[in-house]
Amino acid sequence: MKKVVTIGEIVVEVMATEPGLGFREPLALVGPFPSGAPAIFIDQVGRLGQPCGMVGRVGADDFGRLNLDRLAADGVDVSAIGVDPVAATGSAFVRYRPDGDRDFVFNIRQSANAGIALDDAARALIAGADHLHVMGSSLFSPALVSATDDAVAAVKAKGGTVSFDPNVRRELLDAPGMRAALAGLLDRCDLFLPSGPELLLFAEADDEEAAVDEILARGVRAVVVKRGAAGADHRDASGIVRQPAFAVEEVDPTGAGDCFGAAFVVFWLRGLPPAEALRYAAAAGARAVTRRGPMEGASTLAELDAFIVADRGAAP
Ligand code: ATP
Ligand code: MG
Repeated sequence: MKKVVTIGEIVVEVMATEPGLGFREPLALVGPFPSGAPAIFIDQVGRLGQPCGMVGRVGADDFGRLNLDRLAADGVDVSAIGVDPVAATGSAFVRYRPDGDRDFVFNIRQSANAGIALDDAARALIAGADHLHVMGSSLFSPALVSATDDAVAAVKAKGGTVSFDPNVRRELLDAPGMRAALAGLLDRCDLFLPSGPELLLFAEADDEEAAVDEILARGVRAVVVKRGAAGADHRDASGIVRQPAFAVEEVDPTGAGDCFGAAFVVFWLRGLPPAEALRYAAAAGARAVTRRGPMEGASTLAELDAFIVADRGAAP
């Protein structure tokens, strides 16, 4: 089986229990939950039984331990996750606004994540990888951009494939070099997994369909557009495949896109046709939103199969 590797931020997430605006008053909070977009992604890859690993860095603290223990328990190779003797594990505080949007307070650039580099352990992990997944949120510093570029080059040089989810957070979009780095990744990925509105950041076009045309013309093999509860679609040279979202009660949308992307990549690498990979991805995204905590709703293959069968039974 193909080995999937990712590189980027590991954080704990602490969330406000009630919706509202920001963090300027004392709040009821729940957490820490293991998190970080690439960490959620790779945890979901691991739960599906695909060989996988992550290049990252945590502090020598409980927040780091929480993440390392979870990833290892779910089958992720953590040999390239360094433990920083000084800096603390990254964190993200999140509060949902009444309109469903989110406010974040991130401690990523100043955390152990800042020290991520392609050391010997990282190079060894990447040397054994067949596929690299990159999250735009991980390109938060020139050092991370450079480490990611090197990892992409190494995987491509040995004939591997690359997937890219821009995962743009407005709090991070203006980090030095971020916009140029995002564009550079688009030019080198095989599989592009944006959210609908993110498409327009990457094209001249001002509607989403024309933006996908432009991106395919640049050499990306397939574009999978995520639209939350409105579903997802897959476009490549042979046309479009649409996948409606499964009907579930949304408890916490964080992590849906990461679990969706992970499932899509796993089944794409296993050679399933786009419609089938997309169905598994949508099931993974739907199951993810039914659990509070970004990584808590990651699924096994048996859980996805049971969910899809149950949904067929429930269909009118
Ligand atoms: P994020 O804003 O966290 O980065 P994203 O844009 O990457 O999210 P989403 O589009 O929110 O990802 O979710 C990915 C997929 O998960 C959707 O295409 C859909 O299939 C599924 N999904 C997300 N939210 C829901 C929901 N409320 N109900 C059912 N399925 C959902
Ligand atoms: Mg996302």
